Amino acid sequence: MAEQLNLIPVSEPLIDGNVLPLVRECVETGWISSDGRFIHEFEHKWSSFCNVEYGVAVSSGTAALQIAVSALRLEHGSEIIMPSWTIISCAIAILEAGCIPVLVDCDPDTWCMNLDEVENRVSPRTRAVMPVHMLGHPVDMRRLIAFAKERDLFIIEDAAESHGAEVAGCRVGGLGDMGCFSFYANKIVTTGEGGMVVTNNREFADRLRSLRNLCFDQNRRFFHTEIGHNYRLTNLQAAVGVAQVERVDAHIRKKRWMAASYRERLKELRHLALPVEREWAKNVYWMYGLVLGDSVPFDAAEFSRRLREQGVDTRPFFLGMHEQPVLRARGLFEGEAYPVSERLARRGLYIPSGLTLTESQIDRVCEAISRILN
Ligand SMILES: *Cc1c(COP(=O)(O)O)cnc(C)c1O
Repeated sequence: MAEQLNLIPVSEPLIDGNVLPLVRECVETGWISSDGRFIHEFEHKWSSFCNVEYGVAVSSGTAALQIAVSALRLEHGSEIIMPSWTIISCAIAILEAGCIPVLVDCDPDTWCMNLDEVENRVSPRTRAVMPVHMLGHPVDMRRLIAFAKERDLFIIEDAAESHGAEVAGCRVGGLGDMGCFSFYANKIVTTGEGGMVVTNNREFADRLRSLRNLCFDQNRRFFHTEIGHNYRLTNLQAAVGVAQVERVDAHIRKKRWMAASYRERLKELRHLALPVEREWAKNVYWMYGLVLGDSVPFDAAEFSRRLREQGVDTRPFFLGMHEQPVLRARGLFEGEAYPVSERLARRGLYIPSGLTLTESQIDRVCEAISRILN
């Protein structure tokens, strides 16, 4: 128990007093559902932050991905290329829209989808690509956009983990046809639960708003020509979002300070791969990942157990989509292997990276890691 209390948590949200007057206003005015001024203000503030015209707030990042794929109106059986190493939300969004996820492996250094492999996976049925900006590091969108233009493919960015990350000075989320964000409690900007799709395309924005709200007919209430969802965000959550957007620059600075502090202390350890930052990229280091080198005689699960004994909490890396029983049971990805994803799933984890992390906690984490690896 005492040991539990001393555990340095992997992630803690940072919500401060600036939310209180806004949440109070919701309570006092009774605007607590999905109408109300904070929804519009949050959509406006977040889409402006992303340098994008429209924002459509929804109840989660998964919901954002789902309506983004649906908004493309792709023919049943269309293929969408996505990374194998990501969260299942990406695959669910594609499958729910009647499309087929086609996987590529990831880059061993940035952990983002390997763009060299995208070309080999294009078929006559390919309609879109879903890049995922991983743990704070962006995909090289300049290269992907050029490729997608040439092949006439849509791009849906999953920027859930990379609020404010940049490719050659441009913020992610606003670079593809649509960009999806999550505001779950451990994300850089949070509303507790929540998400948003941003886009510069007016037609997509209208369709996203309709899909989020049961596809009510514009002119005739309770008349429906399409299946929609209730993925609405509440005004209460949006109030938290408005207050959080004011903190986004400070949160990103804190993450980058954390990453620099970890790198400084861990860079001499030869058996560990640390997060990188490509020269064209701004990494926002949502979570600080580590990957054990092949010379380490144990895997990430054992590393995690040993760190826990020393008071350091960790989380495992994603398990690739091609290794998910629920997707394999649908006959997907049969006989496919993605060695980099498989290696990351077994040798990678992330260490405490919350916005409340202190320098002395970083020291303790790094001392524990050094003790275990030396
Ligand atoms: C967190 C996350 C999501 C899902 O967001 P929820 O709000 O939890 O539904 C989607 N994609 C990635 C890459 C994420 O990290």
